[in-house]
Amino acid sequence: MKQILIKTNRLTKQYGAITAVNQLDLEVFGGEIYGFLGPNGSGKTTTIRMLAGLLEPTSGEAFICGYNLNREPARAKALIAYVPDHPRVYGKLTAREFLALMADLYRMPPEYARDQAERLLTLFELSERADELLEGFSHGMRQKVVVAAALLHRPRVLLMDEPTVGLDPRSARLLKDVLQELARQGEAIFLSTHILEIAERMCHRVGILKEGRLIAQGSPEELRQQAGRAGGSLEDIFLELTGGAEDAELIRSLGEEGVS
Ligand code: ATP
Repeated sequence: MKQILIKTNRLTKQYGAITAVNQLDLEVFGGEIYGFLGPNGSGKTTTIRMLAGLLEPTSGEAFICGYNLNREPARAKALIAYVPDHPRVYGKLTAREFLALMADLYRMPPEYARDQAERLLTLFELSERADELLEGFSHGMRQKVVVAAALLHRPRVLLMDEPTVGLDPRSARLLKDVLQELARQGEAIFLSTHILEIAERMCHRVGILKEGRLIAQGSPEELRQQAGRAGGSLEDIFLELTGGAEDAELIRSLGEEGVS
């Protein structure tokens, strides 16, 4: 039977009058790459930050491998890795030192941590620069260091906010292969993306969020069928569900005003 590694019950976050995430019910299984899609401001980052235990929900609950993030945060967080949308690293550390620090924070046995770190540095082609300060790294290189740090302690649940932004095609492909291998080993990967091609190629299931609510969910193939357009791309379906048709109307009306 499939194991549920991420679960939310009516998860809600309000910022004053804004309901960023609205009664969200999610289940993500071990062995699954789940893509979280939605327009700007639809609540993706807010959801991921709540799943990472970094943001307290206004109401509702979230569970990681059965542990309630609110009641057993340490147990839940030990099983998570989180890659934020803007990689934050300590500029005065080298890449190798940064990985060592992360390994310490997760209380990994030092020798095993060193081996893992070297493997990941090699995999992400960072070995040659691993003793340079991170402040001199490009955005994409920092992103790779943060991803490597996330994989270091073998998380059961990987939460990634737009993980491919800033990565070159080769690194994006590498990341895809790594995530697929992790899924094959039974981990759950939850990632947000605006790149629908990535969702289509990489994710087993996608959920589309609009104004904090899940408005569609399924494999890309299932979504196509739900939308009644077997040949349509995920982009067509996304735009249809999230109001792209209204945008097209507005753009046309802008043109009309310009003519008169
Ligand atoms: P994007 O695709 O642009 O990254 P998103 O789907 O990740 O967007 P969120 O960043 O989760 O969206 O934002 C959801 C809503 O919550 C937005 O209306 C945003 O303005 C609001 N919001 C997020 N953080 C805060 C905050 N700290 N204070 C007030 N409102 C916030």
